[in-house]
Amino acid sequence: MKHNFSAGPAILPKVVFQKASDAVLDYQNIGLSLLEISHRSPEFVDIMKNCSSLIKEILNVPDDYEILYLTGGASSQFYMTALNILGNNQRAGYINTGTWSTKAIKEAKLYGIVDELASSKDSNFNYIPKEVEIPEGLRYVHYTSNNTIFGTQFHELPNTDTRLVCDMSSDIFSRPVDVSRFDIIYAGAQKNIGPAGVTLVIIKKDIVDQIERDIPTMLNYKTHIEKGSAFNTPPVFPIYCCMLTLEWISEQGGLEEIEKLNKEKASLLYDEIDRNTCFKGTAEVGSRSLMNVCFLLNNEELNDSFLEMATNAGCVGIKGHRSVGGFRASIYNAMPKSSIEKLIEVMQAFESKYA
Ligand SMILES: *Cc1c(COP(=O)(O)O)cnc(C)c1O
Repeated sequence: MKHNFSAGPAILPKVVFQKASDAVLDYQNIGLSLLEISHRSPEFVDIMKNCSSLIKEILNVPDDYEILYLTGGASSQFYMTALNILGNNQRAGYINTGTWSTKAIKEAKLYGIVDELASSKDSNFNYIPKEVEIPEGLRYVHYTSNNTIFGTQFHELPNTDTRLVCDMSSDIFSRPVDVSRFDIIYAGAQKNIGPAGVTLVIIKKDIVDQIERDIPTMLNYKTHIEKGSAFNTPPVFPIYCCMLTLEWISEQGGLEEIEKLNKEKASLLYDEIDRNTCFKGTAEVGSRSLMNVCFLLNNEELNDSFLEMATNAGCVGIKGHRSVGGFRASIYNAMPKSSIEKLIEVMQAFESKYA
């Protein structure tokens, strides 16, 4: 048995893999694979409708928002957001908390004026800037709710009345969120909801069309809003898998329950990191992510030995990102507590052997 701590594409509930496999072979006994039916067929139209209602229900999305299933990854949203809602002479505030925010800032600068409101670059992005001063007159404030690479997470919304735009790729559906504060929420599916290939966009409908700029048809949110996210062929299989994950979330009791479990799972691991004499966490305690847990060995010369012990115990995907080093255990919604306990066992066995 493998315990998959990969950062993304990442673990999904087993039941999602099972149902998705069944649908690939024969979708609901119609004698056809889900992969060979039209995206305009009643079957697929139903899937998309169901997926959107689940998202609206689980996240409590207000009626004046639209759910879009786009392609190009969260990385395309770095420019698509600014291209659609930031005028050439308008300012947007960006909070820089890591690699993904930095990339978002670079793209937004192509279309408007970017104020970097705060940055944690000074200490390798190991914390979330606090008490960020947010000036008046910004079109929006953009932030990355969870920093997949550096293992930090916003535990509150930025303190402002300004409209928010958020990259929630690695913590969407991990906790409740007040969608009404956002103009745009976007998330690549492959961290917490589905396979790679679909990017979820939750967008307030009346924010498109507010600036004067020619926008290519496919990059214009308006196109996708008007066509119910089916202007062109949507990524049918990833959307189906997302729908299955959302059904699973619903069965778990929704986001309050999921958040409770996520807190419990993360505490187990952070407590061990703090207790174990061989390891230390990289993120500032108050900024720690419940999704991506980054930690180092005090003696980095033993990195390979720990990795080998973990691998032998079936714990895979824990090698840290090169910009932090050490280890990263990604413990998304679908990660069972028992897998975290397994990793903790390995850490304790390692301590007995090397401390
Ligand atoms: C993975 C990730 C991205 C990049 O997503 P792609 O779908 O590969 O473009 C962006 N932001 C965050 C927070 C991520 O975790």
